[in-house]
Amino acid sequence: MATKYIFVTGGVVSGIGKGVATASLGRLLRNRGFTVAPIKLDPYINVDAGTMNPYQHGEVFVTDDGAETDLDLGHYERFMDVNCSKGSSITTGKVYKNVIEAERRGDYLGGTVQVIPHVTNEIKKLAKLVATEQEADVVIAEIGGTVGDIESLPFLEAIRQMRTDLGYENTMYVHVTMVPTVGPWHEVKTKPTQHSVYKLREIGIAPDVLICRCEVPMSDEVIDKISLFCGVPTEAVIQSQNVDTIYEVPLWYEEKGLGDFVSKRLGLEQRKGNMEEWAVLVDALKNPVTDVTIAVVGKYTSNGDAYKSIAEALIHAGIPHKAAVNIRWIESDELEKAGKPSELLEGVDGLVVGPGFGLRGIEGKIEAIKIARETGMPFFGICLGMQMAVIEYARNVCGLEGANSEEMNEEAPYPVVHLLPEQKSVKDKGATMRLGSYPCNLVNNTLAHKLYGTTRINERHRHRFEVNNDFREKLQQHGMHISGVSPDYRLVEMVEVPAHPFFIATQAHPEFKSRPNRAHPLFAGLVEAAVKAKAAVI
Ligand code: GLN
Repeated sequence: MATKYIFVTGGVVSGIGKGVATASLGRLLRNRGFTVAPIKLDPYINVDAGTMNPYQHGEVFVTDDGAETDLDLGHYERFMDVNCSKGSSITTGKVYKNVIEAERRGDYLGGTVQVIPHVTNEIKKLAKLVATEQEADVVIAEIGGTVGDIESLPFLEAIRQMRTDLGYENTMYVHVTMVPTVGPWHEVKTKPTQHSVYKLREIGIAPDVLICRCEVPMSDEVIDKISLFCGVPTEAVIQSQNVDTIYEVPLWYEEKGLGDFVSKRLGLEQRKGNMEEWAVLVDALKNPVTDVTIAVVGKYTSNGDAYKSIAEALIHAGIPHKAAVNIRWIESDELEKAGKPSELLEGVDGLVVGPGFGLRGIEGKIEAIKIARETGMPFFGICLGMQMAVIEYARNVCGLEGANSEEMNEEAPYPVVHLLPEQKSVKDKGATMRLGSYPCNLVNNTLAHKLYGTTRINERHRHRFEVNNDFREKLQQHGMHISGVSPDYRLVEMVEVPAHPFFIATQAHPEFKSRPNRAHPLFAGLVEAAVKAKAAVI
């Protein structure tokens, strides 16, 4: 059967939750046994998200094959339980780069290169490539930005053309809008939705489904009105009220009949959505029997999206323990102020020191790790967090005063973390780190081995620096165990301190592989240790 395409656009306001809407719709189709390939069409001119500041744009998500992408791909992977690839992220930058390279090669044979058809053809080609590569029954493509933005027009034109190319029965437009309430009586207003649909129609797209974000229940009268003015059948006007956890959204959509409507409309085989596993995990999230507080130290903690996958991985880790995980975000600079570290870590049951780049705040991270190591507080270091754990250990346990990473101080007397050899000649910043999934061997009978339950793992990476092998022996002699190494023994991938109740750190980014239905072993281990630590205190 021909691949079906669902295009998800957003209107009225930005940040409306299109990513979660797209991911949730994907879950409904996955629950019906269909193969789903999600893609994100992003209107920015960066070739990928790798060079974007997480403070502005949120986390940079990394795929198995090493693409640095928008954080929405993280939602897709977590909700749909699929692995995205390089092709899943299509940006204006990537599209234009391809078109310009083709023009320079002479592929257009003297033609004038234009947005229509050359740019739109490239967008369509890239979207179709994902379908073939992933043998997808359904491609769900989210278009970044808000309808009405100048930047997204070529993408909207391309998806408009795809209906003509592929046929009505193989294409579908889902528009996510906002239905606000105004005034003291919380009157529900449909006008912004109507206007955003008019805007879409101007471009030649008539939505098949409207997902209406709303704070209060929408009456039948409101739904009828939206249906009439927007030309969408009432059963396809899906109200999406605010829910306690984003993982509840697929259950809500299913109840509103979205899964059945979409599969019928696309002529897919009618199957019942199996929501059982999902309902169980949502129930665990909504009815925890205990709770723990985990501090996450980072550099961009005032933007909740900058560490999105870590936050989600911690929430997933609570599910098997029926524990609500409260995250206390701590800005690393704050920990550099006198007296602040112990104050900020007061009442915390576990500590995560997260990824990052550059000098700012690293002394605060080292200070927090010192406290965790000395007090027996469960600790988990991720990427830069592992590098800082090694520096802390080198300085305060091995007696290597001034130990540092070459990233922070090129003149450090003890460069315990230094540049990967293959990074030495790299000049460009974009897509040049050690990126994507790499294998790692775990040492028998270590905490890492116990948590993973295997000695051969694969995790995703995104870094330029590594532990300096000249200091491996010194660290080991003083009680820091190297529990994970690359198969050629060249790279330190995981360290731990066996004398501590739970002290583990990895050079990888395990947060990217956590799923709500499959908590990641390192995060689950941390939360379990935190639950125990909390019980011991009480
Ligand atoms: N800045 C460090 C490096 O490049 C760590 C990167 C990270 O935490 N993702 O190695």
